[in-house]
Amino acid sequence: MSASPHDPNCIFCKIVAGKIPSKKVYEDDDVFVFHDIHPWAPIHFLIVPKAHIASMAQVGPQHEALLGRIMALAPRLALEQGCNPYPDGGYRIVVNTGTEGGQEVHHLHVHVMGGPRPWLRG
Ligand code: AMP
Ligand code: ZN
Repeated sequence: MSASPHDPNCIFCKIVAGKIPSKKVYEDDDVFVFHDIHPWAPIHFLIVPKAHIASMAQVGPQHEALLGRIMALAPRLALEQGCNPYPDGGYRIVVNTGTEGGQEVHHLHVHVMGGPRPWLRG
């Protein structure tokens, strides 16, 4: 993917750019992954596109490859981060979208949560 749009006021764009510190899990040309600052579960990280896409509501056909890569990355990183294997282990993958969908940060992000229960939330 070529030049990525960034929103100078977006907290996740700042994390991607290294202007706000984060606990990085993974990075490649198109994707940045970091631990959630307020984890709901023993393992809780966020996968974000480096490009600023506000939410799933802005996703179109041009994003199919990017979203496919993100979804294919989630299981691999979940196991690397210590989630137990399917089916007794597993993880939850969540994409909150819009205010009524529970989205607080308007830069598309995929939550990956896992680890032994009970969890703080969810
Ligand atoms: P959502 O409600 O789906 O928009 O989720 C936003 C998530 O971003 C929440 O789980 C927050 O804990 C997390 N978050 C907000 N700021 C940061 C940050 N600076 N570093 C890591 N995670 C963050
Ligand atoms: Zn952004």
